[in-house]
Amino acid sequence: MENYFSTYLSDAHWQIFESGWDPELQNVHETQFALGNGYIGSRAILEENPPNCCPGTFFASIYEGTRALVPELVNAPNPIDLRISAGGEKLGVTAMDVLNHERILDMYRGILVRRTIYSNVRGKRFDYQSMRFFSMQDKNTAVMRVYVTPLDDNVTLTLTNSIDTSIINMGLVTEGKKRHITIVEADKLGSVNYLCTRTFENGILIAYATHIVVKKGKKKAYSSPDWTFKLHLKKGETACITNYLSLHTSHGASLEKIKKAAKRSVSKSVKKGFKRLFHEHSKAWEEKWKIANVEIEGDPYIERAIRFNIYHLLIAASEHCDDVSIGARALTGEGYRGHVFWDTEIFCLPFFIYTNPSIARNLLLYRYRRLDAARKIARENGYPGAMFPWESADTGEETTPSWYKDGRGKIQKVLTMQQEHHITADIAFGVFHYFLATNDEDFLLNYGLEMMLETARFWASRVSYNRRKRRYEINHVIGPDEFHEDVNNNAYTNMLAQWNLKTAVKLCGVYMRKKPAEIKKLMAKINLTSSDLENWRQIASKIYIPISKKTSLIEQFEGFFKKRKLPLPELDHQSLPLYPQNVRNIKNTQYVKQADVVMILFLLSDIFSLKAKQKNYLFYEKRTLHKSSLSESIYAAVGAEIGEEHKACRYFGIAACTDLKNIYGNTDMGIHAASLGGVWQALIHGFGGVRIKKGILSINPRLPSQWRRVKFLIKYKGYDVSMVAGQDKVILQFYSIRKKDQLPVRVYGILQTLLANKKVSFHKKYKRKAIYDTKDLY
Ligand code: BGC
Repeated sequence: MENYFSTYLSDAHWQIFESGWDPELQNVHETQFALGNGYIGSRAILEENPPNCCPGTFFASIYEGTRALVPELVNAPNPIDLRISAGGEKLGVTAMDVLNHERILDMYRGILVRRTIYSNVRGKRFDYQSMRFFSMQDKNTAVMRVYVTPLDDNVTLTLTNSIDTSIINMGLVTEGKKRHITIVEADKLGSVNYLCTRTFENGILIAYATHIVVKKGKKKAYSSPDWTFKLHLKKGETACITNYLSLHTSHGASLEKIKKAAKRSVSKSVKKGFKRLFHEHSKAWEEKWKIANVEIEGDPYIERAIRFNIYHLLIAASEHCDDVSIGARALTGEGYRGHVFWDTEIFCLPFFIYTNPSIARNLLLYRYRRLDAARKIARENGYPGAMFPWESADTGEETTPSWYKDGRGKIQKVLTMQQEHHITADIAFGVFHYFLATNDEDFLLNYGLEMMLETARFWASRVSYNRRKRRYEINHVIGPDEFHEDVNNNAYTNMLAQWNLKTAVKLCGVYMRKKPAEIKKLMAKINLTSSDLENWRQIASKIYIPISKKTSLIEQFEGFFKKRKLPLPELDHQSLPLYPQNVRNIKNTQYVKQADVVMILFLLSDIFSLKAKQKNYLFYEKRTLHKSSLSESIYAAVGAEIGEEHKACRYFGIAACTDLKNIYGNTDMGIHAASLGGVWQALIHGFGGVRIKKGILSINPRLPSQWRRVKFLIKYKGYDVSMVAGQDKVILQFYSIRKKDQLPVRVYGILQTLLANKKVSFHKKYKRKAIYDTKDLY
């Protein structure tokens, strides 16, 4: 039996597999094997749409609310809907016996390949093979090819290809099912089938054009005249069905215009043909991987897991889509309604900053374009400046729902929108991180600085002065640890607010000297005076940071140490603490939901001594339940930095497999976008030891003893910098067309200068002893 798609595949290091058909796992696999290009995300349903499958076609930033309800990412009509029957019996995993079934997501090529061998009631077998992709080269194009061969008998195939417009948002978490689209046009244009829908509230058009080409045996291909058609096949003869698809959305174009665009692009695809489309698509993927790939010698399992995380980051955002961001489950599911959280700036953004800065810039522009909405939120809450919403969708208004169902199915009030204010500083942090790594002054002067200043202005008024203690405090907040609501002086919030104020003032000062005209113009635009800046400096210096000078222990918030200290609950089968069912009110305990103080150690790494980091890490590790997928990667990164190799590896293994192993039990609702980015950071910043310290690229790798070498590339200030890190050596090279360029770097703590295009090896002065064996860790 011919394997039609084997030549399209790369190798096993780049693939994840589904072996056998397990209906229990189908929704998890739909997320894991999802395809996309940053504009569209498509869940990996089987083409025949088995019972209980969850089709998902999501377009970046197409949200819809239904009047009183918060907006959600629209689940658009499903174009993967090919029903085939053979001699009247449906070919499908639940309709026939499945003798063999496997799927491969080839992450290097961005393709999904399937092979299923069916047997009907009379024991006659059928070989079914398919492959599909959403083009990385042309965001509006997708293509799917299917081969069907009757192995034991002649047969008549009936094929029905449709676009399923009955798709609705399942609203599983809260409000229930919702329909967001209505059909505005269904038409046949020669051999092209066309469908246009419109979202109810925002009137966004979503249009699909499909063109099916069918080929039988060696015979010439013909275009199918209709959505349904018949085909007679002899035993051993193969039908090849190719579905060319174009997908377009529009916020403003006329019906005519979008129809023309959809038709034009599908005709172009047909002309190019499957192979050429694949070639263009795989070239585009190859380019992505040239920058984003990571090689880990010594641990092929973790290497593949990391590639899985990177693959999903690569399909989550695109340079073609400005004005959009990344939702908490990217474009792979309805989880968190597709809303944008701090997950983007703190967890995902760094990957893009260092591998594709133009995407990072777009992600930040998404926030800049919503700065007025953030100003409005601040005003409505009685503050000047800009206060970003805890959850954001298309307009930049606050979209956090006011209630949710907890793990036990109970309705709970959500206070995050009123209190989880750290997001405003997190966004400023993302802006500055981008600027530090890219030196993009155009961005800083036209967008970034305005965001930094307006967020600082918010903090300057969000603080309150405690006369008795002569300090500024930030009260009634929720820090990253959402178990404890309405707390005072959460260390994370206070330190990030202080950082926001200080950095805005400093940047403004530096650029006042460098580009006075631009800064004066900006200050006039936002009505800011130098005495405001001086005031902010004063405030920042007096913000209360709950840290003991004697023990260097940070108190997560005021009163945390007085809460009940309980031992960590038993570990589950994933080695994570179970939720303590017997604890009535978790907020009265020292249990922490996710990295909170440890987040500070990670983000503001430079300001703590190694000893202080170790102390706080070990203290909070004993209290953290990791009930958010945002936790483990940060514990891995900081663990690596402070020499807790065993812990770092354990957390890294869990984080890297968050979705591969469905660790949180909700991968069916979409990929955990923040965890993807956290894993990348744990690898590059944590084990790779790559940080920007005082404006200089600093490299201090500390690999787990099992790893021989880690190889990756980052983009830094316009250069590609390649690094090969070993246990006690690192090889660096940066590339430039200007041969005389130099790059100062700090390697193993020592300042060095790299010369353009020259490879240099640096050796660690001492050899680290392997402190344990990581063989069984992952
Ligand atoms: C976490 C937040 C996170 C959100 C979306 C929550 O469970 O506590 O930190 O932003 O999920 O991922």
